[in-house]
Amino acid sequence: AKYTKEDILRSIEVNDVRYIRLMFTDMLGIMKNVEVPTSKIDKVLNNEQMFDGSSVEGFVRIQEADMFLYPDLNTWLILPWEKLKEGTVARLICDVHRPDGTPFLGDSRHILKKQLKEMEKLGFSKFNVGVEPEFFLFKLNEDKQPVLNFTDNGGYFDLAPVDSSEDVRRDIALELQKLGFVIEASHHEVAYSQHEINFQFDNALEACDNIQTFKLVVKNVAKRHGYHATFMAKPVSGINGSGMHVNTSLADKEGNNAFFDETTKNKLSQIAHYFIGGVLTYAREFCLITNPTVNSYKRLVPGYEAPCYVSWSEANRSTMIRIPASRGKATRVEVRSVDATANPYLAISAILGAGLNGIKNNIEVKPVEKNLFALNEEQRNELGVYNLPTTLKEAIDAFKKSELMPTIIGNHLKEKLIDAKNKEWDSYRIYVSDWEIENYIKKY
Ligand code: GLN
Ligand code: MG
Ligand code: MG
Ligand code: MG
Repeated sequence: AKYTKEDILRSIEVNDVRYIRLMFTDMLGIMKNVEVPTSKIDKVLNNEQMFDGSSVEGFVRIQEADMFLYPDLNTWLILPWEKLKEGTVARLICDVHRPDGTPFLGDSRHILKKQLKEMEKLGFSKFNVGVEPEFFLFKLNEDKQPVLNFTDNGGYFDLAPVDSSEDVRRDIALELQKLGFVIEASHHEVAYSQHEINFQFDNALEACDNIQTFKLVVKNVAKRHGYHATFMAKPVSGINGSGMHVNTSLADKEGNNAFFDETTKNKLSQIAHYFIGGVLTYAREFCLITNPTVNSYKRLVPGYEAPCYVSWSEANRSTMIRIPASRGKATRVEVRSVDATANPYLAISAILGAGLNGIKNNIEVKPVEKNLFALNEEQRNELGVYNLPTTLKEAIDAFKKSELMPTIIGNHLKEKLIDAKNKEWDSYRIYVSDWEIENYIKKY
């Protein structure tokens, strides 16, 4: 372990920590927290801090709502952007347990830990995850509400002064570095006001904790500059949406990259092929988890560098899975369908679970080197390439039918998720949009 209880007590002294945010993630991927004064630290470190989970998404019925927070000491972090008159604020990311001490089955972080144990049973030591989150910066109106006005006229890899929100992006990167993030790259994305920051990969659990922290930092720094940062998948129609490509690799017991094999033609191992086969086979079923909002499906359309078909290739960017050119230690499988509205713990669990299933059952899917966008549906189906769900409704249906998904995320979350997503779909389905008014009110 990185930190002991003593380390934390010492850090509280040294940094004059006054408050501690105890963070956890709800089913929908939203970071939540209970804040306690530092005087409660003994209680916190003894896993005795309670909270009422009854109105947290994905949690439980009123009568069994008391939950306990078990802090993961390795996640101890001083939050430099929290400015108190005196002293500082720190955080701990927590697991959620029931009053009898058992892990709460609706806790997505627990679900990922369980999936990592399954992985270890198959002889792997690590699931390395590196993400490429994209986001938009928008202006605020007088009431400090986000409006869809762009903050720059930059494009892919542009420099200032065209990319005038460059300073904001750099500030975000600096803030992240202060927290110990290793920044790989940060650049303007294709659309106006759109950015991407890549930070170093890590083992799955740490990577997901980092994603949650990353989003918090992006939003806070943007706010400091008078902007609003959003990870919604498609804020503006007609231009690129925001994805969160997920680069993955498995490490074997010795820590070697299990996706690399020098002796094969493409230098990918048989395990990598089976992993890809599993991910593709279950892609339609886990899409609800990796792309969980009504809006997610407005990103997964042709023409905006987002995938819409279930396929892989070594270079072709029209496919859902791409194999970046690096080999050796950096050999990886890039899953391009995911967007950042996903609960990262659940999304990574689902991808890992699907990939492991491919390894267990020797599933292979042939790569496609054609530009899939240039083919019609019939031609694609001939190649064995199917569509990702095109609406949240389709995704719910594919998820509902899945036999594999409940074995990964458990029945509790399966039911809760279907319930919440049906409600979301219904509320959207009955809403009359501007598009309809524009297209019908004069015509009929
Ligand atoms: N924004 C694109 C998406 O939706 C990705 C663009 C890119 O990173 N090349 O996935
Ligand atoms: Mg990228
Ligand atoms: Mg990108
Ligand atoms: Mg990418």
